[in-house]
Amino acid sequence: MDDADRAEDLIEHALEDALEEVRRSQSGPLAMGCCLFCDTPLGIGLRWCNADCRNAWQHEQDLRMMRGVK
Ligand SMILES: [Zn+2]
Repeated sequence: MDDADRAEDLIEHALEDALEEVRRSQSGPLAMGCCLFCDTPLGIGLRWCNADCRNAWQHEQDLRMMRGVK
């Protein structure tokens, strides 16, 4: 396997991971290429930098729901 093959393999795996994430999260917000909470640029298919950002974002959504804002 030469370097080009290896690079192709890596890209394929990255795409598979991204698709898997999309499949796992068919409900909820779309991945926009950056953190939905703090706007840090992220890789394909990622929506938050970490669990803290996800939890904070979810908390904001819950507050919005409670206020009846859409
Ligand atoms: Zn973040």
